[in-house]
Amino acid sequence: MFDIYNFFNKLSELNVKIRLDVGQPDIPVDERIISALIESIKRGETTYVSTGGINELREKIAEIHGVQPQEVIVAPGSKFLVASQLFFAKKIAVISPYWPTYIQMAKKFGKKIQIIETTFKDKWIPDFNLIEEDVDTVIINYPNNPTGIVIPREKMKELVDIASELKIKIVSDEVYRDLTFNKKYVSILDFNYEKGVFVYSFSKTFSMTGFRIGYAIAEREEVKRIQKFIEIMVTCVPKFVQKAAIKALEIKDEIKRKLVEIYGSRVELAKRKLDKKHFEFVEPDGTFYIFPRLKNNISGTTFAHELLKRDVGIFPGEAFGNYNLHIRISLVSPMLENGIKVMNELAAELSEKTVLGVIRY
Ligand code: PMP
Repeated sequence: MFDIYNFFNKLSELNVKIRLDVGQPDIPVDERIISALIESIKRGETTYVSTGGINELREKIAEIHGVQPQEVIVAPGSKFLVASQLFFAKKIAVISPYWPTYIQMAKKFGKKIQIIETTFKDKWIPDFNLIEEDVDTVIINYPNNPTGIVIPREKMKELVDIASELKIKIVSDEVYRDLTFNKKYVSILDFNYEKGVFVYSFSKTFSMTGFRIGYAIAEREEVKRIQKFIEIMVTCVPKFVQKAAIKALEIKDEIKRKLVEIYGSRVELAKRKLDKKHFEFVEPDGTFYIFPRLKNNISGTTFAHELLKRDVGIFPGEAFGNYNLHIRISLVSPMLENGIKVMNELAAELSEKTVLGVIRY
Protein backbone atom coordinates (compact mmCIF):
# COMPACT_ATOMS: atom_id res chain seq x y z
CA MET A 1 0.00 0.00 0.00
CA PHE A 2 1.34 3.44 -0.93
CA ASP A 3 2.36 5.23 2.28
CA ILE A 4 0.64 8.59 2.04
CA TYR A 5 2.15 9.93 5.30
CA ASN A 6 5.65 9.07 4.13
CA PHE A 7 5.08 10.95 0.92
CA PHE A 8 3.53 13.86 2.82
CA ASN A 9 6.59 14.07 5.09
CA LYS A 10 8.88 14.00 2.07
CA LEU A 11 6.99 16.89 0.45
CA SER A 12 7.26 18.84 3.70
CA GLU A 13 10.97 18.13 4.17
CA LEU A 14 11.73 19.19 0.61
CA ASN A 15 9.73 22.35 1.21
CA VAL A 16 7.71 21.84 -1.96
CA LYS A 17 6.24 25.18 -3.01
CA ILE A 18 2.80 24.38 -4.43
CA ARG A 19 1.02 22.01 -2.06
CA LEU A 20 -1.98 20.33 -3.67
CA ASP A 21 -1.63 17.11 -1.72
CA VAL A 22 -2.96 17.22 1.82
CA GLY A 23 -6.57 17.99 2.86
CA GLN A 24 -5.73 21.08 4.87
CA PRO A 25 -8.01 23.95 3.81
CA ASP A 26 -6.06 27.15 3.15
CA ILE A 27 -8.74 29.47 4.58
CA PRO A 28 -7.56 30.71 8.02
CA VAL A 29 -9.60 29.91 11.12
CA ASP A 30 -12.07 32.74 11.75
CA GLU A 31 -10.91 35.28 14.36
CA ARG A 32 -14.14 34.85 16.34
CA ILE A 33 -13.45 31.14 16.80
CA ILE A 34 -9.92 31.84 17.98
CA SER A 35 -11.15 34.51 20.41
CA ALA A 36 -13.71 32.09 21.85
CA LEU A 37 -10.90 29.63 22.56
CA ILE A 38 -8.58 32.21 24.10
CA GLU A 39 -11.32 33.70 26.28
CA SER A 40 -12.18 30.23 27.53
CA ILE A 41 -8.58 29.52 28.52
CA LYS A 42 -8.37 32.90 30.24
CA ARG A 43 -11.44 31.98 32.28
CA GLY A 44 -9.47 28.96 33.48
CA GLU A 45 -11.54 26.39 31.57
CA THR A 46 -8.57 24.08 31.36
CA THR A 47 -9.70 21.11 33.45
CA TYR A 48 -11.07 17.68 32.59
CA VAL A 49 -14.71 17.95 31.58
CA SER A 50 -17.61 15.61 30.86
CA THR A 51 -16.38 12.69 28.73
CA GLY A 52 -19.17 12.93 26.17
CA GLY A 53 -18.86 16.65 25.53
CA ILE A 54 -20.09 19.66 27.50
CA ASN A 55 -23.90 20.06 27.61
CA GLU A 56 -23.85 23.42 25.90
CA LEU A 57 -22.19 21.96 22.78
CA ARG A 58 -24.18 18.74 22.74
CA GLU A 59 -27.40 20.72 23.00
CA LYS A 60 -26.37 23.04 20.19
CA ILE A 61 -25.51 20.09 17.91
CA ALA A 62 -28.76 18.31 18.84
CA GLU A 63 -30.74 21.42 17.96
CA ILE A 64 -29.03 21.73 14.54
CA HIS A 65 -29.82 18.11 13.61
CA GLY A 66 -33.20 17.77 15.34
CA VAL A 67 -32.05 14.98 17.67
CA GLN A 68 -31.69 14.57 21.45
CA PRO A 69 -28.43 15.63 23.22
CA GLN A 70 -28.08 12.00 24.42
CA GLU A 71 -27.73 11.00 20.77
CA VAL A 72 -24.71 13.28 20.32
CA ILE A 73 -21.11 12.57 21.27
CA VAL A 74 -18.15 14.94 20.97
CA ALA A 75 -14.70 13.47 20.23
CA PRO A 76 -11.12 14.59 19.54
CA GLY A 77 -11.49 14.59 15.74
CA SER A 78 -13.61 12.53 13.40
CA LYS A 79 -10.70 10.16 12.87
CA PHE A 80 -11.10 9.15 16.48
CA LEU A 81 -14.81 8.49 15.93
CA VAL A 82 -14.03 6.34 12.90
CA ALA A 83 -11.52 4.45 15.07
CA SER A 84 -14.19 3.84 17.72
CA GLN A 85 -16.41 2.28 15.05
CA LEU A 86 -13.80 0.15 13.31
CA PHE A 87 -12.51 -1.05 16.67
CA PHE A 88 -15.91 -2.60 17.50
CA ALA A 89 -16.37 -4.16 14.05
CA LYS A 90 -15.56 -7.70 12.90
CA LYS A 91 -15.61 -7.32 9.15
CA ILE A 92 -15.69 -3.95 7.45
CA ALA A 93 -16.83 -3.11 3.93
CA VAL A 94 -14.97 -0.13 2.47
CA ILE A 95 -15.78 1.52 -0.86
CA SER A 96 -12.78 2.33 -3.03
CA PRO A 97 -11.36 4.78 -3.84
CA TYR A 98 -11.21 5.35 -0.08
CA TRP A 99 -9.62 7.62 2.49
CA PRO A 100 -6.50 5.47 3.20
CA THR A 101 -6.95 5.75 6.98
CA TYR A 102 -9.95 3.35 6.88
CA ILE A 103 -7.75 0.57 5.56
CA GLN A 104 -4.75 1.38 7.74
CA MET A 105 -6.96 1.45 10.84
CA ALA A 106 -8.87 -1.72 10.01
CA LYS A 107 -5.58 -3.53 9.43
CA LYS A 108 -4.05 -2.20 12.65
CA PHE A 109 -7.09 -3.44 14.58
CA GLY A 110 -6.76 -6.84 12.87
CA LYS A 111 -10.17 -6.64 11.17
CA LYS A 112 -11.37 -8.42 8.05
CA ILE A 113 -11.92 -6.07 5.14
CA GLN A 114 -14.06 -6.25 2.02
CA ILE A 115 -13.22 -3.68 -0.61
CA ILE A 116 -16.01 -2.72 -2.97
CA GLU A 117 -14.38 -1.18 -6.01
CA THR A 118 -15.98 1.57 -8.02
CA THR A 119 -14.84 2.81 -11.40
CA PHE A 120 -14.34 6.03 -13.28
CA LYS A 121 -16.63 4.63 -16.00
CA ASP A 122 -19.49 4.23 -13.48
CA LYS A 123 -18.83 7.71 -12.15
CA TRP A 124 -17.65 6.14 -8.86
CA ILE A 125 -21.14 4.87 -7.94
CA PRO A 126 -20.93 1.65 -5.87
CA ASP A 127 -22.99 -1.53 -6.17
CA PHE A 128 -24.04 -2.19 -2.57
CA ASN A 129 -25.45 -5.58 -3.53
CA LEU A 130 -21.86 -6.77 -3.45
CA ILE A 131 -21.69 -6.44 0.36
CA GLU A 132 -20.85 -9.88 1.75
CA GLU A 133 -23.06 -11.50 4.37
CA ASP A 134 -20.47 -11.63 7.13
CA VAL A 135 -19.82 -7.87 6.97
CA ASP A 136 -21.08 -6.17 10.13
CA THR A 137 -19.98 -2.58 9.42
CA VAL A 138 -19.90 -0.61 6.20
CA ILE A 139 -18.15 2.73 6.08
CA ILE A 140 -19.21 5.27 3.48
CA ASN A 141 -17.92 8.76 2.80
CA TYR A 142 -19.99 11.22 0.75
CA PRO A 143 -19.13 13.87 -0.35
CA ASN A 144 -16.18 11.62 -1.09
CA ASN A 145 -12.48 11.95 -0.52
CA PRO A 146 -10.87 11.58 -3.13
CA THR A 147 -13.49 11.73 -5.94
CA GLY A 148 -15.70 14.56 -4.62
CA ILE A 149 -18.88 12.73 -5.63
CA VAL A 150 -22.06 12.13 -3.63
CA ILE A 151 -24.39 9.20 -4.25
CA PRO A 152 -28.02 9.77 -5.24
CA ARG A 153 -30.79 9.39 -2.66
CA GLU A 154 -31.99 6.09 -4.26
CA LYS A 155 -28.52 4.62 -3.81
CA MET A 156 -28.42 5.58 -0.15
CA LYS A 157 -31.90 4.08 0.25
CA GLU A 158 -30.68 0.87 -1.42
CA LEU A 159 -27.78 0.72 1.05
CA VAL A 160 -30.06 1.29 4.04
CA ASP A 161 -32.42 -1.50 2.84
CA ILE A 162 -29.57 -3.97 2.35
CA ALA A 163 -27.96 -3.01 5.67
CA SER A 164 -31.20 -3.36 7.57
CA GLU A 165 -31.80 -6.81 6.07
CA LEU A 166 -28.27 -7.97 6.94
CA LYS A 167 -28.22 -6.08 10.29
CA ILE A 168 -25.19 -4.09 9.24
CA LYS A 169 -24.08 -0.87 10.87
CA ILE A 170 -23.58 2.06 8.48
CA VAL A 171 -20.86 4.49 9.51
CA SER A 172 -21.35 7.59 7.40
CA ASP A 173 -18.32 9.85 7.36
CA GLU A 174 -19.83 13.18 6.34
CA VAL A 175 -16.95 15.48 7.18
CA TYR A 176 -17.31 17.28 3.83
CA ARG A 177 -21.08 17.82 4.11
CA ASP A 178 -20.85 21.62 4.23
CA LEU A 179 -18.86 21.79 1.03
CA THR A 180 -21.26 20.83 -1.76
CA PHE A 181 -21.82 22.54 -5.10
CA ASN A 182 -25.31 21.21 -5.87
CA LYS A 183 -28.32 19.82 -4.04
CA LYS A 184 -27.58 16.11 -4.48
CA TYR A 185 -26.10 15.43 -1.04
CA VAL A 186 -28.12 13.16 1.28
CA SER A 187 -27.21 12.29 4.84
CA ILE A 188 -27.62 8.99 6.65
CA LEU A 189 -29.57 11.05 9.18
CA ASP A 190 -32.33 11.53 6.58
CA PHE A 191 -33.13 7.80 6.82
CA ASN A 192 -33.59 7.36 10.58
CA TYR A 193 -31.64 4.11 10.36
CA GLU A 194 -31.17 2.80 13.91
CA LYS A 195 -27.78 1.26 13.11
CA GLY A 196 -26.58 4.42 11.38
CA VAL A 197 -23.69 6.45 12.80
CA PHE A 198 -23.21 9.95 11.43
CA VAL A 199 -19.69 11.38 11.71
CA TYR A 200 -18.79 15.06 11.38
CA SER A 201 -15.66 17.15 11.86
CA PHE A 202 -14.80 20.79 12.51
CA SER A 203 -11.60 20.31 10.48
CA LYS A 204 -12.87 20.85 6.96
CA THR A 205 -15.66 23.43 7.26
CA PHE A 206 -13.82 25.66 9.72
CA SER A 207 -10.17 24.74 8.91
CA MET A 208 -9.92 23.69 12.58
CA THR A 209 -7.72 20.68 11.76
CA GLY A 210 -5.33 21.21 14.68
CA PHE A 211 -8.10 21.81 17.21
CA ARG A 212 -8.99 18.09 17.03
CA ILE A 213 -12.73 18.08 17.39
CA GLY A 214 -15.62 16.28 15.71
CA TYR A 215 -18.91 14.69 16.70
CA ALA A 216 -21.10 11.71 15.99
CA ILE A 217 -24.85 11.21 16.08
CA ALA A 218 -26.15 7.74 16.78
CA GLU A 219 -28.70 5.96 18.93
CA ARG A 220 -28.17 6.26 22.67
CA GLU A 221 -26.54 2.87 23.30
CA GLU A 222 -24.01 3.48 20.55
CA VAL A 223 -23.27 6.93 21.97
CA LYS A 224 -22.58 5.35 25.36
CA ARG A 225 -20.24 2.84 23.73
CA ILE A 226 -18.28 5.62 22.01
CA GLN A 227 -18.20 7.57 25.26
CA LYS A 228 -16.56 4.61 27.02
CA PHE A 229 -13.97 4.48 24.22
CA ILE A 230 -13.20 8.19 24.72
CA GLU A 231 -12.98 7.78 28.52
CA ILE A 232 -10.43 5.01 28.19
CA MET A 233 -8.34 6.65 25.49
CA VAL A 234 -8.33 10.44 26.03
CA THR A 235 -10.85 11.27 28.80
CA CYS A 236 -12.43 14.25 27.03
CA VAL A 237 -12.06 17.02 24.50
CA PRO A 238 -10.66 20.20 26.16
CA LYS A 239 -13.39 22.62 27.16
CA PHE A 240 -11.71 25.56 25.40
CA VAL A 241 -11.78 23.62 22.14
CA GLN A 242 -15.47 22.87 22.67
CA LYS A 243 -16.14 26.55 23.35
CA ALA A 244 -14.45 27.39 20.05
CA ALA A 245 -16.64 24.77 18.37
CA ILE A 246 -19.80 26.39 19.76
CA LYS A 247 -18.73 29.72 18.26
CA ALA A 248 -17.98 27.96 14.97
CA LEU A 249 -21.50 26.51 14.81
CA GLU A 250 -22.97 29.95 15.50
CA ILE A 251 -21.28 31.42 12.42
CA LYS A 252 -21.47 28.33 10.25
CA ASP A 253 -23.79 29.66 7.54
CA GLU A 254 -21.49 32.57 6.82
CA ILE A 255 -18.37 30.36 6.74
CA LYS A 256 -20.08 27.77 4.58
CA ARG A 257 -21.02 30.34 1.94
CA LYS A 258 -17.40 31.51 1.70
CA LEU A 259 -16.13 27.95 1.52
CA VAL A 260 -18.44 26.93 -1.31
CA GLU A 261 -17.60 30.08 -3.24
CA ILE A 262 -13.81 29.67 -2.95
CA TYR A 263 -13.59 25.94 -3.65
CA GLY A 264 -16.38 26.04 -6.23
CA SER A 265 -14.41 28.59 -8.23
CA ARG A 266 -11.26 26.44 -7.95
CA VAL A 267 -13.14 23.43 -9.36
CA GLU A 268 -14.17 25.66 -12.28
CA LEU A 269 -10.55 26.74 -12.71
CA ALA A 270 -9.37 23.11 -12.77
CA LYS A 271 -12.06 22.28 -15.31
CA ARG A 272 -10.93 25.09 -17.57
CA LYS A 273 -7.18 24.75 -17.19
CA LEU A 274 -6.37 21.05 -16.88
CA ASP A 275 -5.43 19.95 -20.39
CA LYS A 276 -8.17 17.62 -21.67
CA LYS A 277 -5.66 15.84 -23.87
CA HIS A 278 -4.02 14.48 -20.71
CA PHE A 279 -6.56 14.55 -17.87
CA GLU A 280 -10.21 13.63 -17.42
CA PHE A 281 -12.23 13.60 -14.23
CA VAL A 282 -15.76 13.12 -12.94
CA GLU A 283 -17.04 16.52 -11.90
CA PRO A 284 -17.16 16.68 -8.09
CA ASP A 285 -20.44 17.35 -6.26
CA GLY A 286 -18.49 18.60 -3.26
CA THR A 287 -15.20 18.58 -1.23
CA PHE A 288 -11.99 20.30 -2.30
CA TYR A 289 -10.66 17.29 -4.21
CA ILE A 290 -10.64 16.10 -7.78
CA PHE A 291 -9.45 12.66 -8.85
CA PRO A 292 -8.35 12.91 -12.50
CA ARG A 293 -7.38 9.99 -14.68
CA LEU A 294 -4.16 10.43 -16.60
CA LYS A 295 -4.66 9.55 -20.22
CA ASN A 296 -1.88 7.96 -22.31
CA ASN A 297 -1.11 5.29 -19.73
CA ILE A 298 0.96 7.46 -17.40
CA SER A 299 1.31 6.04 -13.90
CA GLY A 300 -0.03 8.36 -11.18
CA THR A 301 2.84 7.37 -8.89
CA THR A 302 5.48 8.23 -11.49
CA PHE A 303 3.61 11.45 -12.15
CA ALA A 304 3.53 12.42 -8.44
CA HIS A 305 7.27 11.71 -8.04
CA GLU A 306 8.21 13.64 -11.16
CA LEU A 307 5.94 16.50 -10.16
CA LEU A 308 7.55 16.90 -6.78
CA LYS A 309 10.88 17.51 -8.54
CA ARG A 310 9.09 20.49 -10.12
CA ASP A 311 7.95 21.83 -6.75
CA VAL A 312 4.33 20.68 -6.91
CA GLY A 313 2.78 18.20 -4.45
CA ILE A 314 -0.17 15.89 -5.23
CA PHE A 315 -1.02 12.35 -4.11
CA PRO A 316 -0.98 9.38 -6.50
CA GLY A 317 -4.24 7.44 -7.05
CA GLU A 318 -2.56 4.30 -5.77
CA ALA A 319 -2.87 5.67 -2.23
CA PHE A 320 -6.67 5.41 -2.49
CA GLY A 321 -6.95 1.88 -3.86
CA ASN A 322 -6.31 0.19 -7.15
CA TYR A 323 -6.12 3.41 -9.18
CA ASN A 324 -2.66 3.74 -10.58
CA LEU A 325 -3.73 5.84 -13.55
CA HIS A 326 -5.19 8.49 -11.26
CA ILE A 327 -3.96 11.36 -9.11
CA ARG A 328 -5.71 13.30 -6.36
CA ILE A 329 -5.47 17.06 -6.55
CA SER A 330 -6.40 18.95 -3.40
CA LEU A 331 -7.62 22.40 -4.43
CA VAL A 332 -6.28 24.02 -1.28
CA SER A 333 -3.66 26.40 -2.63
CA PRO A 334 -4.09 29.86 -4.13
CA MET A 335 -1.27 28.76 -6.45
CA LEU A 336 -3.50 26.14 -8.06
CA GLU A 337 -3.28 27.68 -11.51
CA ASN A 338 0.54 27.60 -11.48
CA GLY A 339 0.41 23.99 -10.27
CA ILE A 340 -1.92 23.00 -13.10
CA LYS A 341 0.39 24.62 -15.63
CA VAL A 342 3.29 22.47 -14.39
CA MET A 343 1.03 19.37 -14.46
CA ASN A 344 0.02 20.04 -18.06
CA GLU A 345 3.66 20.42 -19.11
CA LEU A 346 4.75 17.27 -17.30
CA ALA A 347 1.84 15.22 -18.68
CA ALA A 348 2.72 16.37 -22.21
CA GLU A 349 6.36 15.36 -21.73
CA LEU A 350 5.57 11.99 -20.19
CA SER A 351 2.96 11.22 -22.86
CA GLU A 352 5.55 11.74 -25.52
CA LYS A 353 7.92 9.37 -23.75
CA THR A 354 5.27 6.67 -23.29
CA VAL A 355 4.46 6.90 -26.99
CA LEU A 356 8.16 6.47 -27.77
CA GLY A 357 8.32 3.63 -25.26
CA VAL A 358 11.10 5.30 -23.27
CA ILE A 359 9.40 5.05 -19.88
CA ARG A 360 7.96 1.75 -18.66
CA TYR A 361 5.53 1.69 -15.77
N1 PMP B 1 -12.69 11.59 7.12
C1 PMP B 1 -12.22 11.93 5.90
C2 PMP B 1 -12.87 11.36 4.70
C3 PMP B 1 -11.13 12.79 5.78
O1 PMP B 1 -10.68 13.12 4.57
C4 PMP B 1 -10.52 13.31 6.95
C5 PMP B 1 -9.34 14.25 6.91
N2 PMP B 1 -8.48 14.11 5.87
C6 PMP B 1 -11.04 12.92 8.18
C7 PMP B 1 -12.12 12.07 8.25
C8 PMP B 1 -10.38 13.34 9.48
O2 PMP B 1 -10.79 14.53 9.99
P1 PMP B 1 -10.45 14.95 11.50
O3 PMP B 1 -9.47 16.06 11.40
O4 PMP B 1 -11.77 15.36 12.09
O5 PMP B 1 -9.90 13.76 12.22
